[in-house]
Amino acid sequence: MTQIRVYDTPRRQKVDFEPLEPGKVRMYSCGPTVWDYAHIGNFRAFLFPDVLKRYLQYAGFEVEHVMNLTDVDDRIVNQVNERGTDIDTYVQTYIDGFFDDLDRLGIQRADRYPRATEHVGEMVELIERLVEQGAAYERGGSVYFAIQSFASYGQFAHLDLTGMQDGVRIDSDKYDKEHVRDFVLWKAWTEADGNVSWPSPFGRGRPGWHLECSCMSMKYLGNTFDIHTGGVDLIFPHHQNEIAQSEASTHQPFVRYWMHNEFVNIDGTGMSKSEGNNVRLQDIGDDETIQSYRYLVVTSHYRTILNFTDEALNAARSARRRLNRFAERLAAAADDPGAVAASDGTGGWSQRVQTAERDFRIALDDDLNTPRAMAAVFGLVGEAEKSLSAEDLVPVDARAILSFFEAADGVLGFLAERDAANLETSVELTPEQRQRLDQRQAAREQKDWARSDELRDQLAAEGIVVTDGPDGQQWSMG
Ligand SMILES: [Zn+2]
Repeated sequence: MTQIRVYDTPRRQKVDFEPLEPGKVRMYSCGPTVWDYAHIGNFRAFLFPDVLKRYLQYAGFEVEHVMNLTDVDDRIVNQVNERGTDIDTYVQTYIDGFFDDLDRLGIQRADRYPRATEHVGEMVELIERLVEQGAAYERGGSVYFAIQSFASYGQFAHLDLTGMQDGVRIDSDKYDKEHVRDFVLWKAWTEADGNVSWPSPFGRGRPGWHLECSCMSMKYLGNTFDIHTGGVDLIFPHHQNEIAQSEASTHQPFVRYWMHNEFVNIDGTGMSKSEGNNVRLQDIGDDETIQSYRYLVVTSHYRTILNFTDEALNAARSARRRLNRFAERLAAAADDPGAVAASDGTGGWSQRVQTAERDFRIALDDDLNTPRAMAAVFGLVGEAEKSLSAEDLVPVDARAILSFFEAADGVLGFLAERDAANLETSVELTPEQRQRLDQRQAAREQKDWARSDELRDQLAAEGIVVTDGPDGQQWSMG
């Protein structure tokens, strides 16, 4: 077992990872704003913590994972008032859509998905603490965080704040480095808010976005927790502001390791032209395509920009098909009653599996290097495929390989549900099988029914069912 190292955003380098409590990791991930359906690029910020969590569990940790649902923001408020509905009714469609998409992508559920609107009372308390500490002040019914009161403000995002004016305020949740200002914690009600508001000692209003994550992460994970994830777009101002709010109220370190995933670049695909940047998961294709998208994302290193192209998706699809076909063959070889019952295997497989396992683990210990981990998997797959084709893989070896293969799948999630209907389209025929299908086709054209039946029986013995329909000969895995 090697030391786990992760890239920590503020320190700009890989550092040794040690959780606060031995054996247990507490992790928070910024979740979706449920004002609309998520688009495919958003899912990288949900797939990354999924793999990180599965890997930490594989490495022996217990993981407590919390992801917020932002169910109040400017866009939601506008929609709710325009449609004359209420927040709960409006966001439910998108919350349901979000969880459906997580399931389609094989993303394991977090332990909790707290909603902002269910924590407004606690957010008000946090604001009151910040005001008491002199870190926040009220103006016209709104409350702002005084960034000059927080000496290290800007350090996290490596901002140069010299020459910045004191007491200049910004009300919007999203802004860039050119607009570093005192940011809003509580927004006073305006007419545009319509029916959306909550009471507070400062008057009616609603919480700012940055405050939600400070409040809910500390409530469920403690004042100091281990890992906070999010997309690189959240480093500033969102995460900088979370740190300021949390540490100014508790005077304790907020997060031990900040991990940020890069973007998905979908420019240059036919899809981006027709759909803008709002491609939904269901727009990219069937379940297999969506699983291939998962494969593409999780096998790319999380800190590199991912170019989503048709070619990349197709490559992911065939890699995934190969892995699934391999798992099927391996499972068959593992419980082949006709195979030689060698007691401890042959061909040095136990050593080879151990080497692959070690390389897989070392790659992931090194800042979740999933492409290198997959290289370790494929190294073993390539060797084992040869052995399977030569029919010299004994069950005990097949089982050892399968056991590693399933552990790797537990981290990355590339295997399809083991049901025949799913695998039908994902099998690859051997050249011999392909040849037999061609010969059978030729035999039928020559009306040589005896030969055609003979070939069909041969294929059936290998688990390939051939049927003749209006479109000619078809095959499937029986
Ligand atoms: Zn957040």
